[in-house]
Amino acid sequence: MRNLRFTMLVFVALVISITLCAKPKIRIIATGGTIAGVAASSSSSAYTAGQVGIQTLIDAVPQVKDLAEVSGEQLVNIGSQDMNDQVWLKLAKRVNQLLNAEGYDGVLITHGTDTMEETAYFLSLTVHSDKPVILVGSMRPSTAISADGPANLYNGVAALCDPTSKGHGVMACMNNMLIDAKSLYKSHTTDCATFKGTYGQIGYVYNGKAYYTSEPTYRHTTRSEFNVDNLDKLPQVGIVYGYANASALPMQAFVNAKFDGIVLAGVGDGNFYKDVFDVALKARNSGIQIVRSSRVPTGPTCLNGEVDDSKYHFVAALNLNPQKARVLLQLALTKTHDWQQIQKYFQEY
Ligand code: GLU
Repeated sequence: MRNLRFTMLVFVALVISITLCAKPKIRIIATGGTIAGVAASSSSSAYTAGQVGIQTLIDAVPQVKDLAEVSGEQLVNIGSQDMNDQVWLKLAKRVNQLLNAEGYDGVLITHGTDTMEETAYFLSLTVHSDKPVILVGSMRPSTAISADGPANLYNGVAALCDPTSKGHGVMACMNNMLIDAKSLYKSHTTDCATFKGTYGQIGYVYNGKAYYTSEPTYRHTTRSEFNVDNLDKLPQVGIVYGYANASALPMQAFVNAKFDGIVLAGVGDGNFYKDVFDVALKARNSGIQIVRSSRVPTGPTCLNGEVDDSKYHFVAALNLNPQKARVLLQLALTKTHDWQQIQKYFQEY
């Protein structure tokens, strides 16, 4: 009897220690970008993005195996200038599956830096899990002297393994910083420290440990009502850029092509050039939703500022830049065409 009790105790202790020692299960989804880029010379700035496969990326950072049980898959291998709605839908569905059905503890996505902010924001609205999802990329190709990809990948995996990373929504981990999806923007064309947060970073990674300093307050992931499970395409939304003496032709082209929505990257507080305004008003009256955002990199586009949104039934993008306003408008239009409800989404997300 005593022997049996002792054996059972040893067994329970073994199970507990195995459970405690089990490493987090992390999946890496590779999509391409400079992190998988190859140059003819290690000192050249000319290179082709999306050349190196997932296994090569993981093998370049063997240290991640000390942190986690890491495996990977290649979703696409493109420069993120070629990112599109189809890949977003595929990616969101796959991340949901990995976190909610296949028992993964976190997902790392390797991605080009050009459109990383849009993909991150799209995922923050369409992934329904409080487990961490982190995007990493690099500014220098994998063959460059001092390539920044391996450190970003290592830090990203380290952050995913950290229990404090749950519930912050989707983030990017670049240049040691953790920046949430809504705030994230690319601020410089070539600098390794290109990624900034409109409201600063929410944390950082140091010596393989994540430290959080603030919390996103907008609705995301588990609190998002947008669902792409049954979608195989997204509404068509285009962006029109504002400038002095602007031509109304791009706005008119979107109207002619029967786009569902148009985002204005307006001047100042989301203002239109007068000719563009006239076409926008006609578009609105024909059922196309207009969202006013701004080409100014920081600061809100205010509701009923110089433009009377309530009168024209336009929507103000508030804290979203044009490219992210496009993402939210696409998802909003999968649920409603009521401009007031869409404005509410822009307040909450
Ligand atoms: N244009 C490429 C991309 O976004 C390279 C930029 C990068 O990854 O840094 O994939």
